[in-house]
Amino acid sequence: MAQVPSFDSFRHVVVKVGSSLLVDSARGAVKQAWLDALVEDIAAIHARGAAVTVVSSGAIALGRTVAGLPKGKLKLEDSQASAAIGQIALSSAWSQALAKHKIVAGQVLLTLRDTEERRRYLNARETLGRLGALRAVPIINENDTVATSEIRYGDNDRLAARVATMASADLLILLSDIAGLYDSPPAENAHAKFLAVVEKVTPEIEAMAGGAASELSRGGMRTKIEAARIATSAGTHMVIADGRVAHPIAKVAQGGRCTWFLTPSNPVAARKIWIGGSLELKGAVFVDAGAVAALARGKSLLPAGVVRVEGAFSRGDCVAICDERGAEIGRGLVAFDALHAERIRGRNSKDIAQVLGSPGRGEMIHRDDMALGGR
Ligand code: GLU
Repeated sequence: MAQVPSFDSFRHVVVKVGSSLLVDSARGAVKQAWLDALVEDIAAIHARGAAVTVVSSGAIALGRTVAGLPKGKLKLEDSQASAAIGQIALSSAWSQALAKHKIVAGQVLLTLRDTEERRRYLNARETLGRLGALRAVPIINENDTVATSEIRYGDNDRLAARVATMASADLLILLSDIAGLYDSPPAENAHAKFLAVVEKVTPEIEAMAGGAASELSRGGMRTKIEAARIATSAGTHMVIADGRVAHPIAKVAQGGRCTWFLTPSNPVAARKIWIGGSLELKGAVFVDAGAVAALARGKSLLPAGVVRVEGAFSRGDCVAICDERGAEIGRGLVAFDALHAERIRGRNSKDIAQVLGSPGRGEMIHRDDMALGGR
């Protein structure tokens, strides 16, 4: 059986917290002692130099009480209004709890489009990267106030998986009200077997999640298995663990009971495979011999090495990287629109701001956004 990696080896951990863990629904208030203990676990990961990102639900659960709305299912406009009210309380609860450990929080509200449309995805990815570089902890939720039914996640399990892959995190922890995955729903079958490790999300594993009827809540096991598929195919390991205890992350780290979904890959390699194989090419950049050699040494492509650009590509599009003779040496997501790329080609990175009138990235194609070799 595949080995579960050592917890201390993870460099970026995304933690998803469900509403029922964080919010006491009777009072419509944050479970403060539980949050404080969880934040101690987060601070421990942060203190060893790793990045932590939180995807937290709870806006609607907090806001509906404040708004005085009745119990039961809310109409879309009422849940959006509740989210608008509750998100303020949710963010401040996280930011105050993290501040006790001198950790800065940053609120990021995303919609489905922000994670699925290339340009928006790239912007969100850069902001998350920058927050990480500043050692801040992003507190992420779906932007429920503007997300209408056709264009929303509606559950934070899949949102968290997309965030984890977008941020190239190597571990996603879904804290839930269940210990992990069983081979059949434990509420219906007393002999249901617990799975500690899932090496691959197969159709059999998907079937174990059961249909909608067996879901414990919105975002039941089904969305968790979907999250596992998204995460593991992008090189991110995933854990489902019971969050209803104090210090749930420390318990996972100590080898406590939970289900691990392992990936044979890692986020950078998986991203490169995706770039190399599955994207439509929108143009090409032709580079000089010096750049070809630099790329082979694992460097990013700088504007100085680009001799010609071709195609009407936009920032974030996939383009071919060709040598001066036109042979394709790789593919990558370009950081500039074609017009801007044309103006900065051959120029030194430090001149970009002056040439374009606004600061942009120093690289034409970052090495993490590039797949080299043969295609
Ligand atoms: N975004 C919703 C909220 O903050 C919750 C979605 C979910 O629980 O998965 O209330």
